[in-house]
Amino acid sequence: MKKIVFATNNPNKLKEVRKALPHIQILSLRDIECFDELPEERDTLEGNAQQKAEYIYDKFKVPCFSDDTGLLIRALNNEPGVYSARYAGPDCDSEKNMDLVLKNLSEKEQRDAYFKTVICFFNEEGPKLFEGVVNGDILKERTGKEGFGYDPIFKPNGYDLSFAQMSIEIKNKISHRGIAVQKLVKYLTVLD
Ligand code: IMP
Repeated sequence: MKKIVFATNNPNKLKEVRKALPHIQILSLRDIECFDELPEERDTLEGNAQQKAEYIYDKFKVPCFSDDTGLLIRALNNEPGVYSARYAGPDCDSEKNMDLVLKNLSEKEQRDAYFKTVICFFNEEGPKLFEGVVNGDILKERTGKEGFGYDPIFKPNGYDLSFAQMSIEIKNKISHRGIAVQKLVKYLTVLD
């Protein structure tokens, strides 16, 4: 079975991606005993995704991919964007990040937003980028218990459920990362 490293230890992301790529063995950073903090110093999702994948490829010489995701809220000038993980400060968590989004939007009528994921696959041929976007709205309060991150406050267009109320299968089909992963899967299938 082909092995590819996914440059993450996030169990939710690994679960999502392993479901989408059942014919490939997806290894985590822990699986390859990489305990380094991956560099993420660029100011775009594309730049950060590439920086992380290139770091792993240079160090381990294995085909790998990394992802970088942002939640872009139009009424907040596309914040938190590339800073989505640390929107509420350096020691924040998902709860604090959601609280800040809800606070900053409390006076706003416009609540549309989108998630964007950029995946960078890196092998001996260099980087290849894949993008996925899902449009939706920020809810007024948390709804649902599934998923992670901003899922409880994001409702994708065309659904009456937040991401946190959806099964992983449905979220995978329509989500930003799901779409980017589907593009990666297509590419890897052609490579095979
Ligand atoms: P990362 O680039 O995947 O680390 O994500 C940046 C930030 O966006 C983190 O705060 C994540 O929790 C959040 N995030 C990433 N993917 C998702 C998702 O599918 N749903 C909700 N939040 C997400």
